[in-house]
Amino acid sequence: MEPVRSYTTSSAEETIELGRQLARGLPKRAVVLLSGNLGAGKTTLAKGIVSELTGSPPDDIVSPTFTLIHEYEPGPAGTRVYHIDLYRLERTEQISTLGLDEIFDQNAVVLIEWGERFLETMPQPRIEICLKTPASNPDQRHVTIAP
Ligand code: ADP
Ligand code: MG
Repeated sequence: MEPVRSYTTSSAEETIELGRQLARGLPKRAVVLLSGNLGAGKTTLAKGIVSELTGSPPDDIVSPTFTLIHEYEPGPAGTRVYHIDLYRLERTEQISTLGLDEIFDQNAVVLIEWGERFLETMPQPRIEICLKTPASNPDQRHVTIAP
């Protein structure tokens, strides 16, 4: 098994840049769980990943908090991307209304915030990225990636 990789960023811009770098190493088809508290930087990291894969500027990539799912057409890299936020979902049964299975069946990179709340419905294999704010510095984020 590949080892867990870890990074530390010192600003939102650095986290976006890390997202770009990680995106370049992703397979064309992947499920990526982004976990961490509110404000941990999940959406910020997703901006970098989506921006790299679709060619859209990071500012155009906004949180799918209310719409739950954002779909991005393939850019020059040829990868379709879904960015999903399950924060507002309360019960596992509500998952079935989202049509996630059809999304997981596609050749796409699927980024999911708060997927750990419904872990039993998340497919394998998956990449798990966890973001944490150290108590010592509110501008830093520790990012660990488990394949
Ligand atoms: P989440 O999606 O996990 O709730 P967001 O990415 O929406 O988190 O928000 C992260 C917030 O933390 C943003 O306001 C961002 O500017 C701020 N921030 C400060 N330092 C960092 C950092 N190193 N990486 C990412 N975000 C940071
Ligand atoms: Mg978010």
